[in-house]
Amino acid sequence: MSNNAPKLNAFPVFMRVEGQAVAIVGGGEEALAKARLIGQSSAVLRIIAEHAEPDLLAFIAQTGTNHLAATYDASQLDGAVMVFAASGDEALDRRVAADARRLGIPVNAVDRPELCDFFTPALVNRAPVAIAIGTEGAGPVLAQMLRGRIDRMLSPSLGPLATLAASFRGTAEKLLPRGNARRRFWNDFFTGAPARAAEAGQLSQAHDATVDLLRSNTPARGHIALVGAGPGAEDLLTLRAHRLLMEADVIVHDALVPEVVVAMGRRDAERLPVGKRKGCHTKSQAQINALLVELGREGKRVVRLKSGDPLVFGRAGEEMAALRDAGIAYEVVPGVTAAFAAAADFELPLTLRGVSSSMVFTTGHDLKGNSLPDWAKLAISGATVAVYMGRSVAAEVAGRLIEAGLSPDTAVAVVENASLANRRRFHGTLADLPSLEERADLSGPVMTIIGDAVAGANFERSEPLAAHRHEGASSSVAEGVQS
Ligand code: SAH
Repeated sequence: MSNNAPKLNAFPVFMRVEGQAVAIVGGGEEALAKARLIGQSSAVLRIIAEHAEPDLLAFIAQTGTNHLAATYDASQLDGAVMVFAASGDEALDRRVAADARRLGIPVNAVDRPELCDFFTPALVNRAPVAIAIGTEGAGPVLAQMLRGRIDRMLSPSLGPLATLAASFRGTAEKLLPRGNARRRFWNDFFTGAPARAAEAGQLSQAHDATVDLLRSNTPARGHIALVGAGPGAEDLLTLRAHRLLMEADVIVHDALVPEVVVAMGRRDAERLPVGKRKGCHTKSQAQINALLVELGREGKRVVRLKSGDPLVFGRAGEEMAALRDAGIAYEVVPGVTAAFAAAADFELPLTLRGVSSSMVFTTGHDLKGNSLPDWAKLAISGATVAVYMGRSVAAEVAGRLIEAGLSPDTAVAVVENASLANRRRFHGTLADLPSLEERADLSGPVMTIIGDAVAGANFERSEPLAAHRHEGASSSVAEGVQS
């Protein structure tokens, strides 16, 4: 940090309170809020309130807190390590603050910063780990917002994991030389097998994994997470995907995964694009499989980031088989698949009571043969069909389905760049679908949804597919700017 960086006027510290008395003067909401906050610690609360309101009384009864139901007097603060003036009565709060100061006890007066020796933070509690957020009065709303964000980022298992770490600290210091080896051990502990076991709620396994890690004292074993990045919008990433991204040494990603999502990884993480966009294969699937195995053997923690859900047209099957064969640990993290994102963008019910009760995920590319694929029969019996990678085979899909007996009037919804700000929505019928192939104005990924349930969608923000056929490409480009 540079020398002229802004200075903090209140400096955060963690104060020992175990078994110590903390006095709160006040009987209302403010006192209750402070009691709840301090109640997250092992301090001994002392509530001084001649008249406590019912909520506070309930808290006192529930937690067995000491309650002095008497008129306030300075002697009641005796022996406390912290005092809160939370009566809501300005004169009384001033008196309490002055008394505390005279007794040499740090004091906090609710909503009166000028009377405060210290401020209370917004707290993310993963005891024994605590994250305290202070804003020096810039606003409790900001503090709560940050609290929420940080809370979502941190696994609930962080507390038990930290407790486990503490129990191994002495052993680790005895067995491992200071420096790299020890640092690597802790790094592996907090991101490797012990952390994963704790995450799954298996604390005894976490313990065993830690013993293994200590014993082997060899570089960590690699781990590959096949992670769904969702359809493109960064906030459709799951919290688990986000966490793994931030822990990864290497991120191996497809071309369809937007830069903002890849950028969520650690700044020093290695990023390996492996392409696989139509027409620009930078690596073959076999090369990608080999790359993952190699990274795993090097002991790397790898996130293999795929668009949508990794198990839907993501060739995850081949990657998992390669990893299994090589004996490399892996896990799968689901993501929001393109069909779901497209349906959401269209407010389109994929199942619709009385209309459609099953759904097909397919790609038009299996229509090339002579025999009709099974899903065509499902479509005729009313299933909603989501077609992945269907743009270049749109005419084929429409033709074969009509030939198979599906009405040319069956509703069709098409979304380009689902979930993204530049999304475009088109609606029409099966008879209009072939026009999709000719459109030069669509450059993003396209999802096509076919079926009677599509009729339940919201067409207010979509353009007719057929318009393109009649008016030509240039006019629909102009129309397309709407979304
Ligand atoms: N695993 C991905 C699918 C990969 S196949 C998933 O679960 O979504 C690639 C195809 O997915 C594209 O050709 C397109 O049909 C579809 N797709 C992916 N992202 C999309 C998006 N944002 N909008 C529309 N379709 C998308």
